[in-house]
Amino acid sequence: MIYCDAHCHLGSRQFDEDREQLLETMMEKDVQKAIIICCSRHDLEHGIRLRERYPDLKLAMAIHPQDLEDDHEGERLKRFEKLIEEARPDMIGETGLDYYSHPHTREYQKQFFIRQLELAKEKDLPVDIHSRKASNDTLQILKQHHVKGIIHSYSGSIEMARLYMKEGYYISFGASILFKDVKRPIEVIRQMPLDRLLIETDAPYQSPIRDRRHEPQDVIRIYEAIAAIKQFPIEELCKAVEDNFDQVFR
Ligand SMILES: [Zn+2]
Repeated sequence: MIYCDAHCHLGSRQFDEDREQLLETMMEKDVQKAIIICCSRHDLEHGIRLRERYPDLKLAMAIHPQDLEDDHEGERLKRFEKLIEEARPDMIGETGLDYYSHPHTREYQKQFFIRQLELAKEKDLPVDIHSRKASNDTLQILKQHHVKGIIHSYSGSIEMARLYMKEGYYISFGASILFKDVKRPIEVIRQMPLDRLLIETDAPYQSPIRDRRHEPQDVIRIYEAIAAIKQFPIEELCKAVEDNFDQVFR
């Protein structure tokens, strides 16, 4: 029985002190597959090294929608394209739209998002999508670019999830389902088909416990919660999620 963390930032500075220890703990606890999201040079360097040592860790890289300004002459995108050639990622991500935290960069976000989807298509790579308060635009753009991948940290309705699934996407749930008064995500999970579901931490972010760093092995708690909601044995959930994880990269 193995667990997969479909979205974590293992290259983050927050893990610089004890990354080795963290990897050992992950492997010991059978969190053996993960997607390492890299949205900076620092994170990417660590991500590349980790993937060399652990072939079941997948490398994703992108320019994050929270990290944008005008791209004069498209220089930044050109540099990114070159970096893809060097790093050879398994995935483009996380890319997308964030109208919640960065409403003033909407237009740049769309440009960067579209270009990164085009690159994913050119390189035949799946994508990991970040979408906050932007689901209509996200869906419209995804519909125009036929790539497959994952909708990360999903918290929308079952109807919207179905529309994403129709475009070939997997829906990934994070620790927000562990909070006490959440009703909608639990209802959504109840209705989610097992063959489209993924689970993630977004570590070191989105910790369910305040002031505590989120870690990839914490994904087990989310698995347990989802198994309870869906009334499945955990073994069955592990098997299904692992199949989905592998399918994204096939
Ligand atoms: Zn993230």
